Amino acid sequence: MKTNLPRCLTLALFALATLITAPLSANPLKLINVADNVYALIGPMEQRSPTNLANNANFGFIVSDQGVLLIDSGGTLAGAKDIESHIRTITDKPVTLVINTGGQDHRWFGNSYFSARGADTLTSMQTQTDQATRGDNQSGSTSRLTGDSWQGTTPQPAQQAITEKQSITFGVTEIQIIPVGPAHTGGETLVWLPQHKILFSGDTVYLDRMLGVGSQSQHLSWLAAFATIEALNPTTIVPGHGMPADLSKAQKETRDYLQLLRTEVAQLIEAGADMEDATLIDQSAYSYLKVYKSLHKRNALRVYEEMEWE
Ligand SMILES: [Zn+2]
Repeated sequence: MKTNLPRCLTLALFALATLITAPLSANPLKLINVADNVYALIGPMEQRSPTNLANNANFGFIVSDQGVLLIDSGGTLAGAKDIESHIRTITDKPVTLVINTGGQDHRWFGNSYFSARGADTLTSMQTQTDQATRGDNQSGSTSRLTGDSWQGTTPQPAQQAITEKQSITFGVTEIQIIPVGPAHTGGETLVWLPQHKILFSGDTVYLDRMLGVGSQSQHLSWLAAFATIEALNPTTIVPGHGMPADLSKAQKETRDYLQLLRTEVAQLIEAGADMEDATLIDQSAYSYLKVYKSLHKRNALRVYEEMEWE
């Protein structure tokens, strides 16, 4: 005769396991298994806050028999621990290597946490320089935005840097680390998995939310970096922000958007219009993207500013 007890016990154990592995933040990362041994952690798309721990971006990890390779380490110490808690739902292996795709806070502010536990930290030379140059400034703004969640965060630039493409084998996974120069920041670095045709693009690709052309960005070089991605012909892109998707969506929401601004600004400059007129450029085709309202005018101004000097 069947009894309900084993099922009750199973449910109770499951509930307990869920509690133990529950992430610390109120705005948890979403874990997606994108290929054998390869995972993406998808972060929220809004501004940094005490509850999202400045993990308002995407991360990734690759598991081998020896350990875990982590792509980007989180925006605060608490953010690094939150990423680790998600890794723990898959494996008990330690993080042995961290690759930073960029110099923006959430790409590397968790480095010191993993480094203290034995991980190597690696990026490209340009990304490392960007981290060292803008670290203090970013610490100021990220600490203000994250409040108490900032506690104990010690930004530490990646300790190893490459100057050209490097291939490594991590367990059964082939990985290429590809420096692509300035784009959203002063130096972006791609992580390409040729066996799976999966790209972790960092902030060279934004999906579902409006990309940011900030004072640290270089949009012309960004388009060149995007051309490198097109040459790889990825099947899946895990973007810096937004849900994983195919190349055509990235072309539309990152490449074509930058090209639209460029074309429109060129016409304004040709017609002798003022910089302020760039804010009137019709960008409504992209108004469905998250944070469109807060970024689209600033993006146009920044592209104008850059193109004046071309
Ligand atoms: Zn970012």
